[in-house]
Amino acid sequence: MFNALVLNKEEDQKATNEIKELDISMLPEGDVLVNVDYSTINYKDSLAITSASPIIKSYPMVPGIDFAGTVEDSSNSNFKVGDKVILNGFGVGEKHWGGLSQKARVNGDWLVHMPKEFTSKQAMAIGTAGYTSMLCVLALENNGISPNSGEILVTGASGGVGSVAISLLSKLGYTVCASSGRNEHAEYLKSLGADNIIDRNELSEKGRPLNKERWAGAIDSVGSHTLANICASMKYGGTVAACGLAQGFDFPSTVMPFILRGVTLAGVDSVYCPLKDRIKAWERLATDLNMDHLNSMINIISLSEVEETTQKMLSGKTHGRIIVDVNS
Ligand code: NDP
Repeated sequence: MFNALVLNKEEDQKATNEIKELDISMLPEGDVLVNVDYSTINYKDSLAITSASPIIKSYPMVPGIDFAGTVEDSSNSNFKVGDKVILNGFGVGEKHWGGLSQKARVNGDWLVHMPKEFTSKQAMAIGTAGYTSMLCVLALENNGISPNSGEILVTGASGGVGSVAISLLSKLGYTVCASSGRNEHAEYLKSLGADNIIDRNELSEKGRPLNKERWAGAIDSVGSHTLANICASMKYGGTVAACGLAQGFDFPSTVMPFILRGVTLAGVDSVYCPLKDRIKAWERLATDLNMDHLNSMINIISLSEVEETTQKMLSGKTHGRIIVDVNS
């Protein structure tokens, strides 16, 4: 038997959630059974658990798009009992039971071996948010952006993606400008390596097709007018890695930044990112992330605190990364 957070929904009713004791036989099919050490709360988990967006595809569902743990049983040739593993995405916590549980059974093709530099707790301090930040940094690099190119803008700065992105970029030698709506986190953002901080209101309203050239690169977890204004303010040949929608999923832009300044808009998806790219991202996290910074980003909660935390996240009252100790 094990404990898991279970979401349920009667037709036309709002989804409910409760911590339930379940039998292993109830777990979905898969060739690897994992004893979960830690999970985490990402923005998408908050949307799913509060039903703010139709993330969950079927009920009952154990949410949690991430987990880190130890293999208990495996018929997959890539994983043996005792291996430390990480799962991010692949529809887990959306259409396949997820990580907010003491046990998970999944398809081994979705798992990544945990880099030896990390504990399960550190891997979940990073989680999908941090691994996505690394994918965004790789997108900038793949498009030729380097520390010499100029300043990099990070939006949603005090959130999970933003915090890890600032830390990664600063360790790699970039000059970082953080865009945040919360003045009270200015010292936190500077401690992660932000050189400059701007108020997110500078970017959030409808703007002009082109503005003064300002940033060589950007990592945007906000979308909407913010993303449009970022594109309009990119330097010639700059790259914007777009991964999020905290302001909105619309993109009210024009073609001008792309056809007059050769700006690249690089879309970043973590969920179905091919295995070779996600392994590369985790390897780079092991070398490029400042662990003191990571420690300063985390809050640890138990399964019973998940619902309250997801509501706080959607109302902009959390910052950094949230780890869920599923065994406490
Ligand atoms: P968080 O809630 O931790 O961070 C979001 C941050 O965005 C907030 O901390 C806040 O930062 C800022 N923000 C919130 N509301 C608004 C608003 N209305 N306008 C402008 N800024 C706002 O979430 P995550 O970091 O986990 O995720 C961030 C985004 O990235 C989400 O949209 C998520 O869905 C997406 N994402 C996408 C992935 C992918 O595969 N493409 C993977 C992971 C995340 P501040 O207070 O500093 O302004």
